[in-house]
Amino acid sequence: MNRYSNFFKNTFKNSYGLDNLSKYLLLVGVLFLLNRNIITLVVGIILIGYAAWRVISKNKYKRNQELQSFNRVLIIIGQKFYRIKYKFNEFRKYKVFKCPECSQKLRVPRKKGKVTINCKKCGKQFKAKT
Ligand SMILES: [Zn+2]
Repeated sequence: MNRYSNFFKNTFKNSYGLDNLSKYLLLVGVLFLLNRNIITLVVGIILIGYAAWRVISKNKYKRNQELQSFNRVLIIIGQKFYRIKYKFNEFRKYKVFKCPECSQKLRVPRKKGKVTINCKKCGKQFKAKT
């Protein structure tokens, strides 16, 4: 029993430990395991194995670099998601019309009934239903 606990002490001593990346890997790995499909099962086991390996790894510098790149990817995904959300909100609030004269795209607030639109580019006026 003592030898067993010593083994764990030596394994975890100086090891990198659990970080955000490993937590995500574990979470995604478990989600993959829940799916009853041989491919996702294998991927899930690989992800969990990789997370476990990162936790006991002694190369802290390398693991920290991995974490940094992971955080960068998270930020990029967050920005993309924000942009999509922003575009969706714009679409809900505004309707886009094309000027019949010069094809300039004009953004008009929705649900204003029939309005007269003044083209910003050529000055052409036209009626449209918002
Ligand atoms: Zn125009």
